[in-house]
Amino acid sequence: MNAIAVVLFLAGAGSWIEFRLKSDLLEESTRDLQMRAHLVNDAIARSQRPPQEEVQHLAEVGGTRITIIQRDGTVVADSEAMAANMENHGERPEVRDALARGVGSAIRYSDTRRSDMLYVAYAADGQAQVVRVAIHLEQVNARLRVAEHTILLTVAALFIAGMGLSFLVARFIVKPIEAMRSAAQEIARGNLDATIEMTRRDEFGELVAAFNTMSRELKSRVGQIDANRRELSAIMDNMAEGLLLVDSDGVIAVNNRAAARMLESKDSSLAGSRLWEIIRLPEVDELLASLPNLTEPRRIWVEDRTHSQRRVLAFVATPLFDTGKGERHAVLLISDATEDQKLLEMRQDFVANVSHELKTPLTSISAYCETLLDGADKDETVRRPFLEKIQVNSARLTKLVSDILNLSRLESGMGDESRKQIDLNDLVARSVQRHADVADQKNVKLSMHPMAEPAIALVNDEDMTEAVDNLITNAVSYTQAGGSVDVTVSRNAYELQVEVKDTGCGISAEALPRVFERFYRVDKARSRALGGTGLGLAIVKHVALKHGGHVEADSEVGVGSSFRVTLPAMPTQRE
Ligand code: ADP
Repeated sequence: MNAIAVVLFLAGAGSWIEFRLKSDLLEESTRDLQMRAHLVNDAIARSQRPPQEEVQHLAEVGGTRITIIQRDGTVVADSEAMAANMENHGERPEVRDALARGVGSAIRYSDTRRSDMLYVAYAADGQAQVVRVAIHLEQVNARLRVAEHTILLTVAALFIAGMGLSFLVARFIVKPIEAMRSAAQEIARGNLDATIEMTRRDEFGELVAAFNTMSRELKSRVGQIDANRRELSAIMDNMAEGLLLVDSDGVIAVNNRAAARMLESKDSSLAGSRLWEIIRLPEVDELLASLPNLTEPRRIWVEDRTHSQRRVLAFVATPLFDTGKGERHAVLLISDATEDQKLLEMRQDFVANVSHELKTPLTSISAYCETLLDGADKDETVRRPFLEKIQVNSARLTKLVSDILNLSRLESGMGDESRKQIDLNDLVARSVQRHADVADQKNVKLSMHPMAEPAIALVNDEDMTEAVDNLITNAVSYTQAGGSVDVTVSRNAYELQVEVKDTGCGISAEALPRVFERFYRVDKARSRALGGTGLGLAIVKHVALKHGGHVEADSEVGVGSSFRVTLPAMPTQRE
């Protein structure tokens, strides 16, 4: 490429020099011939010799062809031809110009001399003849060739010098620039490992070193940014809450996986979508509309009515902030608050139920007390039964409060630390023992079926005793005289089970799934009459769950019920 440019430049320069030289030579020759024509004209004017003779003499001396032409074009004399044989020269351009302006010149092929000639004609004012001198163009060309050779040699020398220079330029300037350009392109394409291999001590060497340092620095910065980005996206994607970055129009800029899941989008990226088109809830519209006025985070709970299953979503919106890209965005956190809402409602129900349950015995107690104070205490026949009623209701209250406290203790997780390895055979035997009298009185056959080997479980003695007590109390209570209650401890590879099976009244299929709910009773009046609080099975369930186990119940109305508490087993000594 460089060579072509140098050749073209030198060829152009050479041609131009040659052209200039040629035109200068011709100009100079023309001027020389003009001068000669003057001299010839003067010489002929002064000469005594006939024109033909004089012309030949002067031509020999001057080395030029000389022609004398009359104004009418008739050739009078010619140094190289017979004038008489020559045609009229009046129309020769140089002669015409000389006659018109005094001098004229022309380059033409001469038939007489059979070569290209340079003619110059001169006509002095008032003279009857025109003097024409001519030289062979070959004479001019010979000088030109000498000049051409010189030019060619110069051009060749310049070409070699140019090539050498361009080689040096390519080697020392273009090559490093090219290397830097391709490395920069590599970096722009994302290959941050691109460096330049070059060891030079000049400015280019310094430039290359600076470039390589810049490339390494860039790689480390990009790596740092990439690590930060990955860390951030790992945090975002592992968040349980849905996270959205939205602008004031509700257009989503960024979201995490949880947000896409909660908004039930098929695409994991919601960027560019409008939140109010994805989730059409007036509360969310209102929250978005309030963003420009927010000064502190705002939290709302929304029941998603568009959903088939009951779903409550909690939205927390931050005030709008500048993202640094000239945009204003807010962060929206979405969490599934369905369980929280249920818990809240359960608590509210529980408080209402507790108040109600407490109110009934308290009202009775206060009514009996009032009646006694109003004078009934004087009446022996009334006083004792009234006091007994007060006692029964107080006991009921005590049982209720103790059950409530137990339940809340179980829920709070207190007592977990006091678990011990306990043989359930012993624990269940003690409980059966405690209920033996009541069962006897009711004529219910209460039997215990322990395991042959120890049934070791890691349990809180008090809680587990409470659970087994509740199951046996229920079984004995809801079994009529003549019936039986069988308490069995058994084990499979990993689990221990305590089963309390009775031949009592049984529970209907509709009621069975609800018996573990707090305050749920199949027959309220009967439960109360039997001293039940409606919390017994709720306590059993909590104890089982707290110990990593579960409860089950089977029942058939009129046939009997079976309640089973299953717990993880501890390995026995023999294992
Ligand atoms: P309660 O204090 O009323 O016994 P529980 O939570 O222990 O409360 O039991 C809830 C309800 O389940 C009881 O009211 C009763 O209707 C029913 N139930 C519990 N155990 C039995 C059983 N062994 N046989 C029949 N019904 C039972």
